[in-house]
Amino acid sequence: MESFDLIVIGSGPGGYVAAERAGALGKTVLLIEKEQYGGVCTNHGCIPTKSLLNSAKLYVHAKEAAQFGVQTESVSFNLADAMAWKEETIKTLRSGIEFLMKSNKVQTLFGEALVLDAHHVQVGETVYETSYLILATGSSSVVPPIPGSRLDHVLTSDGILELKEIPASLVIIGGGVIGIEFASFFSMIGTKVTVIEMMSEILPMMDAEFAKLMRRELKAVDFHLGCKVEEITAEAVLYTDAKGQKQSVQASLVLMSVGRRPNTQGLEKLGLDIERRGVVVNDRMQTNLATVYAIGDVNGRSLLAHSASRMAEVAVSNIFGSKAMHMRYHAIPWAVYGNPEAAGCGLTETEAGKLGIPVRSQTVQMRSNGRFLAEHGKKGAGLVKVICHAETSVILGIHLLGPYSSEMIWGAAALIEAELRVQDVKEIVFPHPSVSELIKDACFALDHTL
Ligand code: FAD
Repeated sequence: MESFDLIVIGSGPGGYVAAERAGALGKTVLLIEKEQYGGVCTNHGCIPTKSLLNSAKLYVHAKEAAQFGVQTESVSFNLADAMAWKEETIKTLRSGIEFLMKSNKVQTLFGEALVLDAHHVQVGETVYETSYLILATGSSSVVPPIPGSRLDHVLTSDGILELKEIPASLVIIGGGVIGIEFASFFSMIGTKVTVIEMMSEILPMMDAEFAKLMRRELKAVDFHLGCKVEEITAEAVLYTDAKGQKQSVQASLVLMSVGRRPNTQGLEKLGLDIERRGVVVNDRMQTNLATVYAIGDVNGRSLLAHSASRMAEVAVSNIFGSKAMHMRYHAIPWAVYGNPEAAGCGLTETEAGKLGIPVRSQTVQMRSNGRFLAEHGKKGAGLVKVICHAETSVILGIHLLGPYSSEMIWGAAALIEAELRVQDVKEIVFPHPSVSELIKDACFALDHTL
């Protein structure tokens, strides 16, 4: 029987990073993947959505170019070409992962892994032995048992990324990050988009003021908040509105984006502790079985690609590394890559209130910034908010809405992770002109002293 130091199941941003890091430490590693390299992130998530969103943003910018002195003859959006570009990007990234595996001497096996026990995994007829096991099997879209939810025109994020034609109308059920990114994309390319959300606001992790502005800026999208979908028919989505009235909205296509569930099928008989959100792990990503670790979406702690990759490093450091790392969740940035973009890291004021942490905050308008004005004019909308501890001034949260948010937010994560105070940030030199200067402006607004 072939034996390995480590078997990793799943080659998403959790699994392939774990395999790469362990391989780089000279360990014998088998990576098992039932589909293709890259998992949901590369093939059906982060990368294809960002590729399509970029195409749609270019289309919008081209249509608006005249006000910046650029004349365009006729501008149109070709979905087939945008999809082809997306596929090209995915292929390039998949071959990048393949190269990484080869260069770190990771053995890859394509097939469905069946975990027999903590030290044995079967693929096809063959059983492989391992000292350690990392489960990185990810998550799948939830399709709730609403009447009509299995009709052909009801898609999840996987199906909608393969569309051949631009739909005339689209109803998106769920106003989380995935729903809002697709709302942004389809509204930019001319589809009539409606979002139906059960909660009283979209994007639950976002500062409430920012979420409201995000809705306002998605001008072409109709939002129905506090509404419960009751049935989907061939032509319409029927729902009960916030006042308890029955309503309906026409839809040629429906996107179901109400959440994701962990891929734990077949793992129960291992004796693993599994709860609704996923496999239970400690802060070292270790399960109740000492040699079995679970990283990424399958443990349900933070459904983000970069969280999965960090969990991979934490798990491998605890199994083979010289120092045992811990997973910290308080400074994980998130981003919404729509038009506008938004991003955040750390606490909102509401969350701080629930934790009983006294905070102070300052919000600055992006239109007070030179670069933003040069590129968007004074009608453009955007906000930056910095939240600090009321007594110590340690930065606890930074929230952004506007261009470059997704690129700026790593800096916020660094400030929060390093536990810098407002007065420390005031001494950092920011490049000018850059939208990021607004973070420093918000810090000076919190503390004018020199
Ligand atoms: P996955 O990427 O899901 O990979 C799991 C892999 O395991 C899959 O390849 C699967 O085939 C394989 N597998 C499962 N079971 C078995 C088995 N028994 N045998 C062999 N192989 C198996 N996150 C971000 O951070 N930024 C974004 O912009 C972003 N956008 C997203 C957009 C969409 C539409 C979606 C759906 C998700 C998005 N996410 C984003 C979330 C991100 O994709 C996930 O958090 C991330 O992919 C989780 O990584 P993972 O390694 O845990 O699992």
